[in-house]
Parts: sequence; C-alpha cells; structure tokens
Amino acid sequence: MQAQVERIRMKLRKNDTVEVLTGKDAGKRGKVLKVIPERNRVIVQGVGFVKKHTRPNPQRNIKGGIAEREAPIHASNVAILCGECGKRTRVGFKRLEDGRKVRICRKCEGVLDK
Ligand SMILES: [Zn+2]
Repeated sequence: MQAQVERIRMKLRKNDTVEVLTGKDAGKRGKVLKVIPERNRVIVQGVGFVKKHTRPNPQRNIKGGIAEREAPIHASNVAILCGECGKRTRVGFKRLEDGRKVRICRKCEGVLDK
C-alpha cells in the first residue's frame, strides 16, 4: 500500500522569505525558489544542499561530476518571515475591500502579498 501524503494548505509562495526551523540548516534564511504543493515541499535558496553525482553523457553534453543543488524541504519545517515586522510568523488570510484575498502576518497584521 502506498503511503498517502496528507495535504495541508500550502501557505508559502514563490519568492517568500523563510527561515528554516529544523535540521542542519535551522536558522538559515532564504528565498523560496519553488513550491511543490503536491508534496507539501518547498525549495529554499541556499538551504538543504545535496550533492548529486552525475555521470558524464557526451551525447547530451552532460559533464560528469558532483553538482550541488537545493533539495526540497517540508513546508512545515520553515516559517515565513514578515516583511513588515521582520519576525517569523504564521500566515493568516484576509479579504480586502476590493475582494482580493491576501495573506497577512498574524503578529502585526501586515499584508504579506505585495
Ligand atoms: Zn508582521
């Protein structure tokens, strides 16, 4: 039987600035490069580097060697940083007068979506 991934509501977006909460990169901050909603994961710039060994493949012009790249980390292991108050925060939602739904900082009520 295949394990079901429980889907949580993805509150992170590309270009959010986040801080890593757990693991060897705890405390590191970076920008979200990619969001993978179906796996509840994000790729954060400079965080979770893994070494990937690649085999040379001259036909496809791929050089062999070790490439380092960011690995996806679980969304629950990062916290969004509020641009208004600068703190780690939780995301809330608010509907603006013009009908737009935006994410807000639960600490200072600042709008996270610019
Ligand atoms: Zn805030």
